[in-house]
Parts: sequence; structure tokens; C-alpha cells
Amino acid sequence: MSPEAYQYNRGGTPPRPWVDRPAGHYERTGWRIRAAYIKSSLAFEVEYVVCDLCKIGWVESPHSYEGYQRYGLASAALQSLRRAYPGLRWHTAGGHFRQAKPFWDSVGTDVPGGYTQQKRCSHVP
Ligand SMILES: [Zn+2]
Repeated sequence: MSPEAYQYNRGGTPPRPWVDRPAGHYERTGWRIRAAYIKSSLAFEVEYVVCDLCKIGWVESPHSYEGYQRYGLASAALQSLRRAYPGLRWHTAGGHFRQAKPFWDSVGTDVPGGYTQQKRCSHVP
């Protein structure tokens, strides 16, 4: 899959497109990371995996790095994933939250599944 064009352009410096790569954790086969780099700095990462059987996208641990918080990178990243994988419901398993519930409530508005917490299906590690 080719990284989608990165739409976020606040701040004047055109950020690079999203970078999408395997999560690389031995115990989490199939998980991927979508990251944003601004200039050469890692600004944001979120882990995700798609279950084709359940039509669910699981996301976990969205994290904006120091200096890149409160710019809407998490919302933009989740939106880019929804565009890349249409027709899914979106949930979190809540295992490694670094964002508060108000965050998920806000990004989950009008999203199928709403990023609500749910026990992870048996198909993803
Ligand atoms: Zn499943």
C-alpha cells in the first residue's frame, strides 16, 4: 500500500506523506504503524491492524511526540486510515491507552464503531 498524501499543513512546512510500516513487534504480527514525520522528526505514530473477517479496524496507542502535540495529528492519522480502509468499524481494545476518553469521544464522532473499547476479536494478536 502506498502512503496516502498527507493532508495536514498547519505550521507552514509541508509535512511529508504518512509513513506506513509493519509494527515490527514479534508478538504482534500483522499490526502496522502509521507515522507522520515533520521535516526529519518523528511527530506522530499510531498502531493499527485490520481484521478482514470482522471488518474491524483496531487502533492503539496514538501518540504525538514532544513539540507536535495538539496539532490534530491523531485525528488526521485516524482519518487517513479510514480513507485507506473504507467500510470498517473502528475500535480500540484499550490495552495501552496514552490518550484520554475525551480524545476518543471526539475523534469517534460519526465514525462506525466510534473507537469504543471492545474486547479484541480472536483473529488478531
Ligand atoms: Zn476478527
